[in-house]
Amino acid sequence: MENPSTPSNFIKNVITEDLKSGKVKEIVTRFPPEPNGYLHIGHARAIWINFTLAAEFGGKTNLRFDDTNPVKEDTEYVKSIQEDVKWLGFEWEELRFASDYFDEMYNRAVLLIKKGKAFIDDLSADQIRETRGTLKSPGSNSPYRDRSVEENLELFEGMRDGKFSDGAKVLRAKIDMSSPNINLRDPIIYRISHTYHHNTGDKWCIYPMYAFAHPLEDAIEGITHSLCSLEFEDQRPFYDWVVAECEMPNVPHQYEFGRLNVEQTLTSKRKLKLLVDEQHVDGWDDPRMPTISGLRRLGYTPEAIRNFIYETGISKTQGVVDLQMQEHFIREDLKLKAPRTMAVLNPLKVVITNYPEDQNEWFEVENNIENPEMGNRQVPFSREIYIEQDDFMEVPPNKYFRLFPGNEVRLKNAYFIKCNEVIKDEEGHVVEIHCTYDPETKSGSGFTARKVKGTIHWIDASQAVPAEFRLYEPLIKAEESDEEIDETEEKEEKTFLDQINPNSLEIVQGFIEPGMKDVVPQDKFQFFRHGYFNVDSKYSTPGHPVFNRIVSLKSSFKMK
Ligand code: ATP
Ligand code: MG
Repeated sequence: MENPSTPSNFIKNVITEDLKSGKVKEIVTRFPPEPNGYLHIGHARAIWINFTLAAEFGGKTNLRFDDTNPVKEDTEYVKSIQEDVKWLGFEWEELRFASDYFDEMYNRAVLLIKKGKAFIDDLSADQIRETRGTLKSPGSNSPYRDRSVEENLELFEGMRDGKFSDGAKVLRAKIDMSSPNINLRDPIIYRISHTYHHNTGDKWCIYPMYAFAHPLEDAIEGITHSLCSLEFEDQRPFYDWVVAECEMPNVPHQYEFGRLNVEQTLTSKRKLKLLVDEQHVDGWDDPRMPTISGLRRLGYTPEAIRNFIYETGISKTQGVVDLQMQEHFIREDLKLKAPRTMAVLNPLKVVITNYPEDQNEWFEVENNIENPEMGNRQVPFSREIYIEQDDFMEVPPNKYFRLFPGNEVRLKNAYFIKCNEVIKDEEGHVVEIHCTYDPETKSGSGFTARKVKGTIHWIDASQAVPAEFRLYEPLIKAEESDEEIDETEEKEEKTFLDQINPNSLEIVQGFIEPGMKDVVPQDKFQFFRHGYFNVDSKYSTPGHPVFNRIVSLKSSFKMK
């Protein structure tokens, strides 16, 4: 991998210190997604930080599914997440499921009850919320807080054995209802949910809460540094409480880094799921989705994503990254890798009237002028060709140097042609134009007698391969991104739908060079003047390729 080491950062300093002092012998990290959706570009940062930091110090990283909320989880996600982590180029040490530890979690909860550190509460979820207090005022104790250990044990067993309905009771930690940290005000640690679990089936009808389960999972696996995004910072005291009070032999420590937010990019699984469920997009891997699978289908490479993440760094600040910076890295990665060929997206037929009808010729062309190792290819030319509709104007504005009646341009890699006649249909639309070519002007012949101002690309009509091109714009209109990470309200969840860009997909039909007829999904090209394209894995068929435009060629973005 190109970037095996992380830039200097605060977590790295902690690790270095911990190894030096002998506090830990080997670094063990984990990437702990909840399998309730596909991974997105934000997760790439968490993945990258956990895997590269451990690897850098000779340690290891587990992939652990945090599957403690069966209502939202699915094996489809378990599968896609593994595929995406591998594709990004990371190898986990062990594949684990939080649900593998349900027995141990249950036993640790029993331990808390026995120590008088947890109690069964009959208050409803609403009542618990109402008595929790606010940032300014303390909460109040539940009337059930002083139940005896025996009664708590019996009720907890009853919960486990299915004696109560969903929501009837919860197990709460007994800490301090007046703590300035709301997370320490007797947080719920187990809830009743008669729900089938993708891993444990119907074995359990009670499930641990994330905040209780997570530290236990880390401790069980011997995680040394539990790295997560900043929204978990306030949970750290409870994390430490759980590890200590549950008497876990291994003591992991949590460190937080800033979330990655990219301009015009949603990085919330809930929102992305809504886009999928309401069919605003064509599935989780729609090329407009900021999911890893969407970016892959669009044409991003793992290298581009890793280099982008590397450059955005690890910091505690959660600024919004310029979308152009993300795009910069895919251009950089493909610049020398992708063959540079011609494609005509909105074709206009050109007949070269002085070129013999039975003649054709082949031009030898470099595949990538910046990378001679990519060799050459043959491009055919004959009497009829296609050019872009945009490259011809019957009445040109000032400074239009492409084709118009009486004007001469260079055909890329071929000859100068001059427009003599415009053929229109009954409604006055231009259907074809007639040109003449000058045999003296063949590309590479050293012809200098006169110059032209415009160079346009083209495809030989007799051998053109029809293709579809899908041009994208960001799914979300400018100035919207997921900077706000605390939007939990249902209504806020819906309002972002107003920000969906109605023009995010444009489909056009055109032609590619005959040498490209056998392209397969994930083949990538730079089309002259149009940008970088990737063969789509869903809609492309043999003989009729469909291309996704990954990114256009131009950018005003400059790396600092
Ligand atoms: P949701 O969007 O459903 O709230 P999530 O994005 O937090 O979920 P998890 O499955 O809980 O998804 O995330 C797994 C890990 O990825 C967590 O450790 C989380 O800190 C990290 N993570 C998620 N989003 C980002 C992001 N935008 N930037 C950096 N890390 C992230
Ligand atoms: Mg989360």
